[in-house]
Order: sequence, then structure tokens, then C-alpha cells
Amino acid sequence: MGRLLALALARQGHSISLHDAQGPDGAGAAARVAAAMLAPLAESAITEPGVVRMGQHGLTRWPELLAELDAPVYFQQNGTLILWHRQDAGDARRFCGLLEKNRRINPELPALQHLADQELQTAEPALQQRFASGVYLPDEGQLDNRQLLAALHRTLERLGVAMHWHRAIELSDFKPGQAGEPDFVFDCRGLGARGQWPALRGVRGEVVRLHAPEVTLQRPTRLIHPRYPIYIAPKQEHLFVIGATEIESDDMSPASVRSTLELLSAAYTVHPGFAEARILEIATQCRPTLPDNLPAVRWTSERSMEVNGLYRHGFMIAPAMLDIVLQMLDTGDCELARRFDVAVEQAGLQLTQA
Ligand SMILES: Cc1cc2nc3c(=O)[nH]c(=O)nc-3n(C[C@H](O)[C@H](O)[C@H](O)COP(=O)(O)OP(=O)(O)OC[C@H]3O[C@@H](n4cnc5c(N)ncnc54)[C@H](O)[C@@H]3O)c2cc1C
Repeated sequence: MGRLLALALARQGHSISLHDAQGPDGAGAAARVAAAMLAPLAESAITEPGVVRMGQHGLTRWPELLAELDAPVYFQQNGTLILWHRQDAGDARRFCGLLEKNRRINPELPALQHLADQELQTAEPALQQRFASGVYLPDEGQLDNRQLLAALHRTLERLGVAMHWHRAIELSDFKPGQAGEPDFVFDCRGLGARGQWPALRGVRGEVVRLHAPEVTLQRPTRLIHPRYPIYIAPKQEHLFVIGATEIESDDMSPASVRSTLELLSAAYTVHPGFAEARILEIATQCRPTLPDNLPAVRWTSERSMEVNGLYRHGFMIAPAMLDIVLQMLDTGDCELARRFDVAVEQAGLQLTQA
């Protein structure tokens, strides 16, 4: 979020300094570990309509944002496939019922398509009749988060943004508006802002990165699972991100055996070619989350603002959050925040209702 905002403001001609507790590769950011799926319809099963609308906005904005970067970023908009094993058919019915209901609330969402036998085989040939049926969610997307972090870094560098790495800072380190200090400070520290915004909590997620030369999948595939929705997000060159657990904890310790077994066996049941995959990484991060699981913007003074609570939707909603902030700065208006039901708070005062 911070890099996107820095870039937009630098492009407007502002002189920007970017500070990060970690390095340019994003180690320490949820953004580095994420699968970066852009799936508003799939996520509508577990989030609010405003977040879904932000996800739809993101799908149109990402190609524009990526086109402005100095390095290519893999972006795909080839839908999402939902699969389930026989024993989870009840959960699948409930999940699809929720999506249908959300389409009635938001008719701009694409219709889900039920695929049987041959249709499923045509949509995803690699599955080879291992699943009797599935559901296809058109239009959903994904991008390569690590390529994005690198491309943002490179573009910020070219635009002359002063970048300060490997030093944790606090909002109180700045006196915006005073001589020799910045005019304005944006706090986009994710969970690192917890000292300043105590309502923030971490929601732990574990993911596995695999290199599987024997597997080709056309799109992110989600497997209905009794504990958390497991997905396989294919990136370029047979790289797959398998995730993610969702555990109410800000424990950043390494992934558990149980989670790793569940993620890997889920992937193996979707495609046996994963048996010969190589495990590149097993990573843990915590999603920065507010009590209502919704993002928010908070003015902490006339010259400082926090953008946080992006939870499990940071990539899906970052373009909308960016546009909300830019609109507030340019016009003083919160029209976009209202359109997306994003709470804008000021010193304990709620300006818009989430
Ligand atoms: C396992 C997992 C899977 C996910 N999958 C998806 C997905 O498929 N789709 C999707 O849309 N979202 C996904 N997300 C969510 C997404 O990653 C987050 O919502 C998003 O990264 C939040 O962005 P942010 O910039 O607010 O925070 P972060 O990405 O966490 O970035 C915060 C930055 O602040 C820096 N920082 C922290 N403290 C300080 C300090 N004191 N001083 C200076 N700098 C500091 C950090 O180093 C970091 O660079 C996933 C998250 C996880 C953990």
C-alpha cells in the first residue's frame, strides 16, 4: 500500500521519502507472502459488499497501474476454479449458495458457471477426470506480488523517491509541517502500526511455494476445505503458491507440520504431479486486520493519515484504497470511501460509516 501511494504521489510531482523497517524485497511485509489473487466473487462468501465492489474496481485499475511500471508484472484474468471432494459437497453447495445470493445483491458480479465432466475437462485439462464437477468464476484475476514489489521499487528509484530501508520508525518520529520535516506523513505499516492503532490484530497465514514442472493450471484453483479455503495459485514458469491457512493469531513462528501437511496434501489431491514438485519456501505472515475485518483510513492529525486493515484482500482492494486516499487529498471529498463503505475516521470521530 505504501509503495503504491508513494508512486502515485511522486507522479503528481511531490517529493517523497519512503521508510521501511525491512528491505526492498518486502521481507516482513504480508505483501511478499500473499498469493495476490484478485477474486471479488470468491471472496464475497466471506466479506462485505463494499470490499467486493473494491475488488471489482481493482480488476479494472490494476492493468492501468501495472502499465505505468518500469518492469513487467505477471497479471492474469482467467477466472477462478472451485473444486471439492465428494465428502465436502455439502460445504460446496453452501458456498455456491452464498455466491448466488451475493450476485443478487451486486448484479455486476459475473454469473458463476457450474461445470460437469467434459466442461470441467475442457476448462482445466490437467485435472483429468479427478473431479466430477466444479464451479467456474469468470473474470477473476491474480498477479505476481514479488514482481510487483520489485517493479514498484524500480519505478520509485527512477522517479527519485528517497528510500530508507531497514529501520523501524514510529509516527512520532515526524513532526509534519514543522521546518525541516515532511508536509504530510502516511502510515501504511500494516501490523507494524499496532502500537499506534491498538485495534489492529494479526491473522496468521501459512503458504507453500512450489516449483512443479509437471503441472500446468490455467488459473487459481480453490478447494473447498472444512477449515479454510485452500487455493493453488499458478504463477509463471510452473511456480505455484499453495495457501493459505487462516488462524486467529499474530504468531509469526514457522509453519506448523499440520498446516504444511494439509496444504501439500490438498495440492496433491488436485494434481498428482505435485508429488515431484520441489518445495521452494514455506512461509508465514500475519494479515493486518481491524476488528470488523474491513480496511479503514484514519486521520491522526491534519497532516498525517493511516491506511490499514487490508486483511486478506490487500492486493484485491489496494487500487480502490489508493483512489480513496488520492480523492480525499485532491478534493477533500470521501465520495469513493462512501461508495466502497470504507470507514474514514478522524481523531476518534467517524466521518463515514463502514
Ligand atoms: C498468507 C497470505 C495470503 C494472502 N493472500 C492474498 C491474496 O490472495 N489476495 C489479496 O488481495 N491479499 C492477500 N493477502 C493480504 C495482503 O497480503 C495484505 O492485505 C497486504 O499485504 C497488506 O498491505 P499493507 O501494505 O497494508 O501491509 P504489508 O504488506 O504488511 O506491508 C507493511 C510494510 O510496512 C513495513 N513496516 C512495518 N513496521 C514498520 C515500521 N515500524 N517502520 C517502517 N516500516 C514498517 C513492513 O516492513 C512492510 O514493508 C494475503 C496475506 C497473507 C499473509
